[in-house]
Amino acid sequence: MKSRCMPGGSFWPRFLPSIAVWSILVVSASSYSQQAGERVEVPEDGEVAADPEIDTQPEEYLSECNEQEPQDFLIRSNFVPIPNMTDEEREIRRRRHQESIRYRTEHYGYFEGFGHPSMNETTPAQNAETTTFMGHRVRVNRQIIPALRCVEAEIERSCAHVPYQPERVTGLRTRNTYHTGEVSNHVYGIAIDIDSHRNTCCRCVARWRDHPLCQIEVDSIFERMAMPECWVHAFERYGFYWLGWDQLQDTMHFEFLGDPDRILREGSMTFGQPSEVGPANGTVQPGLGDRAEDEP
Ligand SMILES: [Zn+2]
Repeated sequence: MKSRCMPGGSFWPRFLPSIAVWSILVVSASSYSQQAGERVEVPEDGEVAADPEIDTQPEEYLSECNEQEPQDFLIRSNFVPIPNMTDEEREIRRRRHQESIRYRTEHYGYFEGFGHPSMNETTPAQNAETTTFMGHRVRVNRQIIPALRCVEAEIERSCAHVPYQPERVTGLRTRNTYHTGEVSNHVYGIAIDIDSHRNTCCRCVARWRDHPLCQIEVDSIFERMAMPECWVHAFERYGFYWLGWDQLQDTMHFEFLGDPDRILREGSMTFGQPSEVGPANGTVQPGLGDRAEDEP
């Protein structure tokens, strides 16, 4: 196995002692530093080519990560209406839904039409940053960037036996893609989709429903996607919920429903703290991340 260390320490910005240095790396929307002194140009509207040899030290990094579960009241299946529910159940679910909107607004920003501007004077787009996940550029709420790092390190540690290289990763959207009074976690920048063309959503709109993997009998939801099951468990370990479990069977979709204040262990590093990014860097580019329309 090739040495994963570089002279002077790890590639991973998390080990850098300075927020400023990390900020520079994070906010650089036009480049992605893979090795000291080596910068790879990224097209403004594209995704960086994957490099299977990205330097990481998963064991070292994972020691900084808290394992946590998604918070129940944020899980979709706990607040959407169910058939034949009683009035009492309907009220419980309505309240849970409102609570989940309030939580997401307070933590990630106010999205018009959901919650109230008094809950948060910033918008999700202002709180978003471009980062990378598995070699692909993706725009997400800056608070969940460390959680993506945790997942990435976990995948490297646990899923090497089932190699999988994503081709597309999308995150923040500026348009709500639910039509039923719900609000997508993509608008808060806390959801990502991995390879929507390979990991389908069998109960979404026809574009995904018609996928060949939705036409076959399966014993397990994991057979409806190309992504390894191992990836699902890696995400789940660090507070992400996989929407493959939902009635929608949205296998491409992970959303961070954990506590953003618990992602890293107490006393761990500056890495992952909100970087000092001005409004200009928090402005979403029109269209970026909007490719997977009509998917939750
Ligand atoms: Zn999605």
